[in-house]
Amino acid sequence: MAYLEKSFGFSQLVAQLHDARALPRIPSSSIWLCVFGMFVLRLRSFNAIEQELRLSRRWEALVGRRKPSADTLGRVLSLMPSDQLRRFLQQIQRRAWRRKAIHPRAGEAYRVIAVDGHEIGASRARCCPECLVREVRLGQQRVLEYYHRVVVAQWIGVTPAPILDLELVRPKEGEVVAARRLLKRVFLHYSRLVDVISADALYLEASFVRLVLDAGKHVVVVLKQERRDLYRDADRLRSLIEPRLLVEPQRTSRLWDIPDLSSFTTLDRLVRVVWAEEQTRRRQILGGQPKDCVEDKTWVWVTDLPATVVPATKIQRWGHQRWDLENRGFNELVTLWHMDHYFIHDATAIVALLLTLAIAFVTTYLFYERNLKPPVRTHLTRLALASRLRDDLGLLGGASLWSAALLKPG
Ligand SMILES: [Zn+2]
Repeated sequence: MAYLEKSFGFSQLVAQLHDARALPRIPSSSIWLCVFGMFVLRLRSFNAIEQELRLSRRWEALVGRRKPSADTLGRVLSLMPSDQLRRFLQQIQRRAWRRKAIHPRAGEAYRVIAVDGHEIGASRARCCPECLVREVRLGQQRVLEYYHRVVVAQWIGVTPAPILDLELVRPKEGEVVAARRLLKRVFLHYSRLVDVISADALYLEASFVRLVLDAGKHVVVVLKQERRDLYRDADRLRSLIEPRLLVEPQRTSRLWDIPDLSSFTTLDRLVRVVWAEEQTRRRQILGGQPKDCVEDKTWVWVTDLPATVVPATKIQRWGHQRWDLENRGFNELVTLWHMDHYFIHDATAIVALLLTLAIAFVTTYLFYERNLKPPVRTHLTRLALASRLRDDLGLLGGASLWSAALLKPG
């Protein structure tokens, strides 16, 4: 908390939080700090945090003397406007960039954002008015399954890779529609911290690409065979161009750089296609024996950035970093931070929880990377840090971490 206070003026950000209750008995800041603490300590449910809160002279240090029940946590979160948490997250990120606590790799001038959809909490039993619904097969039967989908914007190629913002997909709308809403907000609030949007093939729609280009930003979007004209033209022109050979320790690529394609007709402007045929060497353990194998894969990307400004190798790297995000970034958030689990089934609360998770993720990561000395980190994983912080709450014996004003009922 001292680190967060010094780096981000954390208590001031917490003090600004409010919710729609008429006569709150427990201040919004206390409620939110419980949820923040729940994520930082990687607890799995509101019931788990309720059990923790019942212990005497521990959590008072963080959340104050009035401690909420699991029900209260859920009820208040569903009354918490998400814009204030978005602002909270923005303040943290902007300060972290300014202090160079978040930074791109050396020599990288562009700040690249990946936009991706992620599903949370599929259930056949429970639904809410904002649920998405699909039919699934269950043995011989067809049953309805309810779920939520969220589009997340996350920096890639930087350490750590924090979430900028997120948006729920509403019933009966496409993911790209939600992503457009998300990006409009991202451009407004993070303008100078965003240069390039990297996205999956689903996003290769003129409306999406135009929104990005009109904001003065750039796109790198995966091209799949379904976009027949553009794919076919790029493939045909490829035979006229010599590929560039790129040899890396694990991967050999042949890269074709195809400029000025006019076959993305709905976009009404020329695009460039980067085509990569890759051979990646991997070591697999099969039947207890290590075995080297080679994987062939073709990747194709569409971009507006000219080759004179951004070489094909860099387009390829950005494209892969987005894919890494899918496999590693979300993986960590799902398996270790319980991202795809409903703590409560309510659309407002789901957004509040995910934004709080984003704040907990980036702040603990920065604390770990920027504040702990390297010898301490050698024997302490970020997961172990969570249980160490839990022990520390006990050591405080309930003595408040905050000035008296913060946790007063509003
Ligand atoms: Zn729902």
